[in-house]
Amino acid sequence: MPTVDRVLVIDDDKVVGDIVSAAAHAMGLECVATKDATTYLSLIPSATTLILLDLMMPNMDGIEVLRLLGEQQCRARIVLMSGMDKRVIEIAEKLAHTLGLSVVGHLQKPFPVTELKLVLEANTKGEAPAALAARPLIAIPDEELLLAFERGEFVLYYQPQISIATGKVTGVEALSRWQHPVQGLIFPDRFIARTEALGLMDKLCWLSADCGLGEMELFAADDGTMLRLSLNASVHTLRDLQFPDILMGLATKHNFPPDKIIVEITETGLIHELSRTLDVLTRLRMKRIQLSIDDFGTGYAMMRQLQNVPATELKIDKSLIENLQVNDSDRVMVEKIIEMGHELHLEVMAEGVKTQAQFDLLREMGCDGAQGYLFSPPLSAAELVDWLAAYSHRNP
Ligand code: C2E
Ligand code: CA
Ligand code: CA
Repeated sequence: MPTVDRVLVIDDDKVVGDIVSAAAHAMGLECVATKDATTYLSLIPSATTLILLDLMMPNMDGIEVLRLLGEQQCRARIVLMSGMDKRVIEIAEKLAHTLGLSVVGHLQKPFPVTELKLVLEANTKGEAPAALAARPLIAIPDEELLLAFERGEFVLYYQPQISIATGKVTGVEALSRWQHPVQGLIFPDRFIARTEALGLMDKLCWLSADCGLGEMELFAADDGTMLRLSLNASVHTLRDLQFPDILMGLATKHNFPPDKIIVEITETGLIHELSRTLDVLTRLRMKRIQLSIDDFGTGYAMMRQLQNVPATELKIDKSLIENLQVNDSDRVMVEKIIEMGHELHLEVMAEGVKTQAQFDLLREMGCDGAQGYLFSPPLSAAELVDWLAAYSHRNP
């Protein structure tokens, strides 16, 4: 039985949905348009051949949709649409590629209908999609997770961090990925909770530290200057009095300067465990290892306690950055965090920076560093080496 091509449009702008639908129907294609990315899952019929995806949407942005599609091993072809500059689309394409998705092109808004028709024609005609759409995520059995530790299936991806004042890359955050032999690359949201439940977060932390510290020399500048390395640590791991010594041991093993290691702990974790971790935090600082409070601004409670924590950096949570320009209270919150951080002599890093406008506003506010898809998604070590070369070429 011949498969009817189905096109799915995900765009918060209804006009775009209407235009694509009209063009698709005129060509005898089925087309569904949705304005709300959060409902897109239920709209992906099994024979979706082509997805036209807007990168900037208010509820769930296109990047997150890509990630979900990747996790579902979606085989439909994808065309990215955006009014943003080409570099953002390129980064998104690269991300989609690392997720195993097939991005076949992009449409720079506003696009002429002729261009749209060409895209529809080239990507639908007669071919049935290879395999299909939304498969529910299956929980990964604990035995497989345990095996992953035994077999060493975890890898690190690195996301560059940029100095807002100089535009230079100052460091990278290491983020764990599970290279599953069958399912491909699995993101932390699918394994961290179980890893925690199995009491293996310490193990993951030490694997990451050892691997990350070992790979840092790949990213060194020509003159040998090392970038900083941010490592995520669970607050439970920090309860271990040996933590500073073990980390120092790894830094020595890899000949990496301890003052370029930043241990990130979440604000909420820290609030609950402050009294039990303060000695370890202080000892870390005495060894010149830096300390960042991650996801800052979500817990609120930390504000008052902040002066008692020997932190060196505040990392503003991405949820606050996301709505920086639309939500007044988030903007004020970000402003206050930067102000307060500076009063306490802390560096302030913004995560989840996706647009040039957000970056410009953060610069006006005096924020020190930025990390986010505007520059790059997390990359494998080999990809980061290429990215760094291209970036320094563009920003000499
Ligand atoms: P996190 O520490 O807050 O890391 C930032 C997350 O935001 C990363 O997700 C990153 O891929 C994502 N991200 C980066 N840029 C953007 C952007 O512009 N927009 C948006 N919306 N997101 C962006 P990822 O890699 O999936 O990691 C999720 C969380 O898992 C991390 O959140 C961290 O808490 C945890 N994690 C990852 N690796 C490790 C690890 O080795 N140890 C521990 N303890 N936790 C880890
Ligand atoms: Ca982090
Ligand atoms: Ca964070």
